[in-house]
Amino acid sequence: MTAPSSFDIASIATIATPFKQKFAIPRQPNLAKAQGVITFGEGFNDINMLKGVEHYSHLWLLFIFHQNLERGWKSTVKAPRLGGNATMGVLASRSTHRPNGIGMSVVVNKGIISRNGQTQLCVEGVDLVDGTPLIDVKPYISYADSVDNAKDKLDDINPIPHRDVFFAPSLSSMLAKIETKHSDFSALVTAVLAQDPRPAYKQHLDNDEKIYRVTLYDIDVGFTIKNAAVCVTELVQLG
Ligand code: SAH
Repeated sequence: MTAPSSFDIASIATIATPFKQKFAIPRQPNLAKAQGVITFGEGFNDINMLKGVEHYSHLWLLFIFHQNLERGWKSTVKAPRLGGNATMGVLASRSTHRPNGIGMSVVVNKGIISRNGQTQLCVEGVDLVDGTPLIDVKPYISYADSVDNAKDKLDDINPIPHRDVFFAPSLSSMLAKIETKHSDFSALVTAVLAQDPRPAYKQHLDNDEKIYRVTLYDIDVGFTIKNAAVCVTELVQLG
């Protein structure tokens, strides 16, 4: 019997995350302790599907890069880790522009919430934009999935940036107010901005007066780069 050459895949859930746009989302999971709440959709909202999930500290999320699907894909992609201009094969990369637009992330399992017949699964360390559709969840099995001698030679060439992050002193009362609602807010902003989310061709600039903006939760965050550090200069409550 020949296998079919195309398959129907349903979204089984969507994930809510603090990342309201693609800009500044870490390039891989667990680079920031960002929280995600997975809500299962119609036909998949069945707590039995998660029976035993508490045995696993980490989970694989398989999802669709839904915000990039309409842009299609090419055989080669620009590799941010090679400075932004050099290319690599799409299948030699974790690019979001891929033949089937499928992403995969290992995240921390923070447990199930079941309320009024709605099943939710909490996770930590997400690199997904708010509202991303999930197509599968699987346990992370360390005896098979963790590879001791794995090599990533690009990591030596171009490691993930790590800049200090400061908040302008004038923001302290605003920050305290935000943290009454989002207790991880300054830790999240710090982890996200330490990775210098500017485009690759700007990342060598240790002074950059442009004000960059990113929305985390419902807060618009403005930042610049000064003396090699990231300075958060504005926090604006949206909506
Ligand atoms: N860990 C995943 C994702 C790596 S790429 C994998 O390897 O498959 C990570 C980037 O995906 C983030 O920086 C973010 O900009 C982008 N991204 C996250 N969710 C997305 C979505 N729903 N649609 C398009 N791009 C998304």
